[in-house]
Amino acid sequence: MSKYWSTAVKNLVPYVPGEQPKDKKYIKLNTNESPYPPSPRVLEAIKNAANSDLRLYPDPEFHELRETVATYYGISKEEVYAGNGSDELLAFAFQAFFDPGKKILFPDITYSFYPVYCKLYNLDYETVALNEEFSVPINEFLRENGGIVISNPNAPTAKYISIDEIKTIVEYNKDRVVIIDEAYIDFGGDSAVKLIKDYKNLLVVQTMSKSRCLAGLRLGLVMGSSELIDAIIRIKNSFNSYPVDRLALAGAAEAIRDEEYFTETVAKIVNTREWVALRLKELGFEVLDSKANFLFISHSKISAEAIFNHLRENGILVRFFKKPRIDNYLRVSVGTDSDMEALVKALEKLLW
Ligand code: PMP
Repeated sequence: MSKYWSTAVKNLVPYVPGEQPKDKKYIKLNTNESPYPPSPRVLEAIKNAANSDLRLYPDPEFHELRETVATYYGISKEEVYAGNGSDELLAFAFQAFFDPGKKILFPDITYSFYPVYCKLYNLDYETVALNEEFSVPINEFLRENGGIVISNPNAPTAKYISIDEIKTIVEYNKDRVVIIDEAYIDFGGDSAVKLIKDYKNLLVVQTMSKSRCLAGLRLGLVMGSSELIDAIIRIKNSFNSYPVDRLALAGAAEAIRDEEYFTETVAKIVNTREWVALRLKELGFEVLDSKANFLFISHSKISAEAIFNHLRENGILVRFFKKPRIDNYLRVSVGTDSDMEALVKALEKLLW
């Protein structure tokens, strides 16, 4: 705390990201990054963009990338926009669509950046308790509110709600904006992008950090009716004209075009996820059904904190949230088969 800080800064409660340790080489299963490199075509596109044009500002409207994404999803360019990671687009969306006074609704166990944005923009919110088995109680979102945010699949539980359930929520809340954060949708879910033509109040946020293996590039996407996208553009152009640089624009467009590499890497991760889930169950873990690139697990005999510490000592990082309801759970990102074999081995050492 410093006397030089504004009142707003004094009141902030910043989000704490998973660690990126420097002390030694860990098997990193703590931040849901892809264990696979970006597609060779993407790396080539980025290298080609590293030329003398870097002296020029990038396209502030991201035309080529937006056209590529629009073609991929069968929507119009006016219905898509990009940002410096989906975190930035979520921050823009909270500011663009929510007003102080009316309560924003999101689950009690979800991406912990949502309450941080509320605090940043002075927004009121109410959390909706997930059911006992961590599923989203759809009916609890059918009431008066100031806007809704749902991560689907949810983080950190990995659980997924169906398009029909989303439709029910979006339909009931036609007078306000419903944000669906699809950071993990490509690992087995059905995207709500197909609903945006019918629902002007639906905003879908996605990222290239997970399924497109590009967390280091910082590229997020947002899809919705042109009137919602216009609001995002107004915020972006009141904040930073160029949040997405030339290298990111080139790499991101190529990542969308290289469907083959995308399908292959996603399939590998899903395949690994499924055998690891089975193996963990055999070791006595409760493993929640996952449609994401991570598993949410708990053991009845050894505490999550003890497992977390044991894994860390064995060079494996996972995520432990010391929070109500989930303080006996661990979130484990799906790595390569060999990463996950090392995880299972380390767990066997502890449990056997
Ligand atoms: N939403 C959810 C649910 C996430 O887990 C993350 C990654 N931490 C993000 C959004 C942000 O992703 P990025 O800013 O890398 O696009």
